[in-house]
Amino acid sequence: MAAETILLADDDPSILGALTEFLEGQGYAVHAVTDGRQALAALDAEEFTLALLDLKLPGLSGLELLSHIKDYSPETEVILFTGHAGLESAVQALRLGAYDYLLKSDLILADLQAVINRALERRRLAQTNRLLLENLSQAQEELAQRRAAELTQIRRIGETLAGPLTGPQIIQGMFSLILESLPLAVLGLELRGGGEELPPDAYRRHPGVDEDTFEAFISWLKSRLHDWLPYWRGTATQEPGNRQGPLPAMLEAPVQAGEVTGLVAAGRETPFTPEESELFHIFVLQGGAAFKNLILYEQVRSMAIRDGLTGLYNYRYFWEVLHREVELARRYQHPLSLLFLDIDDFKKVNDTLGHPVGDLVLKALGNYLQAAVRQADLVCRYGGEEFVVLLAETEAQQAKISAERLRAGISHIPVDLPERQLYFTVSIGVAELGPGMDGETLVKAADAALYQAKQTGKNRVCGPE
Ligand code: GH3
Ligand code: MG
Ligand code: MG
Repeated sequence: MAAETILLADDDPSILGALTEFLEGQGYAVHAVTDGRQALAALDAEEFTLALLDLKLPGLSGLELLSHIKDYSPETEVILFTGHAGLESAVQALRLGAYDYLLKSDLILADLQAVINRALERRRLAQTNRLLLENLSQAQEELAQRRAAELTQIRRIGETLAGPLTGPQIIQGMFSLILESLPLAVLGLELRGGGEELPPDAYRRHPGVDEDTFEAFISWLKSRLHDWLPYWRGTATQEPGNRQGPLPAMLEAPVQAGEVTGLVAAGRETPFTPEESELFHIFVLQGGAAFKNLILYEQVRSMAIRDGLTGLYNYRYFWEVLHREVELARRYQHPLSLLFLDIDDFKKVNDTLGHPVGDLVLKALGNYLQAAVRQADLVCRYGGEEFVVLLAETEAQQAKISAERLRAGISHIPVDLPERQLYFTVSIGVAELGPGMDGETLVKAADAALYQAKQTGKNRVCGPE
């Protein structure tokens, strides 16, 4: 360590000489001057650990030097020498920040050494303190920045993954969150059990990643999913072991949302920090929660628009779609037809075989209708034993042909009873959307045709000639 530097200022050459000799003997580097101006010049040229100043100096007084020092290098400790006459000034000097004063008349070197030691000790403490404070405020600032970043991330999760989102939107949101926070080469998702709502996979790569690495990552993640599936399904009791990834650093996290299971994985060249890994898991967890919400939302929506017994769309949903389809058919001058079905003598089924058998008939009819119509057609349970089929892009004559095909098919649906099979028939009314008609009048027309079918013997189709 460099020697402590002391500025020594005294106009008495004999004192100056003695003190210099003493201090240098103690190992200090001493800069001795005899007047205030020299002292000032020395102070401007270098920073001293300690200044020993005579209060009364030619040129510039010790007090003036003291003010200068406290202004320009406040960490330099100042000790003043004074005679009895200068005691008042010495007290003032203490107020101005001097460490101590010594009476020149009975200066004892051992006392001087003790005062210097204490002054230096105070300086060291002050320096340590300042460093600690600096570190502390730096740490606080870093902490504040970290917390702000974390809050931003939490807010981003909220913004990105809350609210009613589609499956692809959730995946997009989860991927953006991950990619905003982690520099990645590749990112991928494999999902199972998501039905039509959720895509089975999704992949992203950094533009700098070559095709081979990307392909290797995709097949790695697919194999990885197959490693995990038995464990998630409960057919394996142990988690799968590691599988060497295509990149040096890999992360993986499971997605679990009811029936939906999957795996998100990421890779890059450089290792992931524990914080990065933690963030990755949090984002995937939040993605899983959003999938759960989606599934729940779909279930609730499905309950609201579907009939509990047959699983077909219900009366409410039928009217919703009907209005939309009527609007479209009129705007684009496309044909639209409606079939109104009613089970023949259904009351008898209930009365003779019981309500549960009646329910079996309704379910069988629902399944049959759903399977028998085109993708674009809409089958709904309109009420008790009444069903409607909305046929897009279909004119009355074609609709009657379809109705007849359905009627014939329905008469051959076997309903399994314990000791035999039950068959039943339906009557069907057909109507086509004509000029000036709306949803209500279309339904009325089909209902009127159905009435006609019932009146003329049932198990038949009636409608426009
Ligand atoms: P028609 O040939 O003239 O249509 O005679 P029908 O007996 O089928 O007609 P009706 O309208 O008199 O009887 C309909 C019956 O459907 C009455 C009702 O108890 C029964 N029903 C309505 N909803 C359900 C249901 O969800 N389950 C069962 N099992 N029966 C139902
Ligand atoms: Mg009826
Ligand atoms: Mg009936």
